[in-house]
Amino acid sequence: MGTLAVSFYNQSRTFGQLWPAINRHILDVMENGKFSHGNKVAELETALAAYTGARYVVGVNSGTDALVLLLRAAGLGQGDEVIVPAFSFGATATSVVLAGGRPVFADIEQDSYGIDPGGMEAVAGERTRFVMPTHLFSRLADIDGVLAESRRLGLTVVEDSAEAIGMRHRGTHAGLFGAGGVLSFFPTKTLGAVGDAGAVLTDDPRVARTADALRHHGRLGDTIGNFPAIATTTSLPGVNSKMDDIQAAVLLAKLTRLDEDIVRRSSLAARYTESLSGVPGVRKTPVPRPDSVFYVYVIEVDSRDDLAAHLSANGVQTEIYYPVPLHLQPCFAGHGHRVGDFPNAENACRYTLALPLYPDMTTGDVDQVCASIRKFYCGRKA
Ligand SMILES: *Cc1c(COP(=O)(O)O)cnc(C)c1O
Repeated sequence: MGTLAVSFYNQSRTFGQLWPAINRHILDVMENGKFSHGNKVAELETALAAYTGARYVVGVNSGTDALVLLLRAAGLGQGDEVIVPAFSFGATATSVVLAGGRPVFADIEQDSYGIDPGGMEAVAGERTRFVMPTHLFSRLADIDGVLAESRRLGLTVVEDSAEAIGMRHRGTHAGLFGAGGVLSFFPTKTLGAVGDAGAVLTDDPRVARTADALRHHGRLGDTIGNFPAIATTTSLPGVNSKMDDIQAAVLLAKLTRLDEDIVRRSSLAARYTESLSGVPGVRKTPVPRPDSVFYVYVIEVDSRDDLAAHLSANGVQTEIYYPVPLHLQPCFAGHGHRVGDFPNAENACRYTLALPLYPDMTTGDVDQVCASIRKFYCGRKA
């Protein structure tokens, strides 16, 4: 009791194996001498374009920045509304505010944890111009439903695909169904850096060009009169969201093993599902689908907080993604929502628990987590 048996995330073995490749890429950066927004970032963008099939990849310094810059590049104007799911990471909604817009919440579907296309029309108003579906945990939201409803309502689709690297539907990678999407390379993500990094994905040259300028102080490279400052013109109020080349170096090495890592993640997920099926108290385990890529393994359980405390006491770290729905966050108190407005989102916050899942885990680790869960439910009084 008390000692750590299974940590929530660890990639030390991965780093041991990939170190020669990482080292080679880092030495390139050192020799080249450009540590921010340099050649290694460009090399990563090219590699990610090949991996995802995106025409353009714009590397930035976090998934959150990628969302803000994507919204601005896709034409979000001051006060424009964006429909977002009520259940997601905070950045899904705060990025809208940071880009100058206003998030409007809608409930999610129980199975996908993604936005329910059937709830979009009811919350869409005069000023609503975008919808931002989020692809959470291990699968895409109902993207066909969102696209159909968006066409009907005249909305532009931008995707919070921060968790969705590797997820594809009908051959299209997440983030490329509408005007664009994002990737997060936060260390625990499926493709994780050793610090913060992110990217915008898009097939639209105008979105790409604007995001490219915005990440670098709004430098579009326009010529003004006969001033020589061609590359340093501030055309847009941009930000400094350049990607570090050291992060790009690590990501390039890890990208070569991404598909293998995804296979490993899905086999560990399958072991969890098999072992947890029929355990009383475990209400729901994820159903594998063709678009499944297990970023995290999330189950729904009775007495979620007690189970989490029991696992923690037995050395198993878990996480709650996400404990408070977006419409009830203090930051959006002004929207006047109350408990009960979006029941599926609220239930997801109450009952979901993320179990450890990462390529360095062993099958023995999975078995240990499952044994501890069984002990909790089978060993306690009804
Ligand atoms: C991780 C994540 C983000 C933010 O990415 P960062 O790189 O941490 O800024 C946004 N949305 C979702 C759904 C995420 O999981």
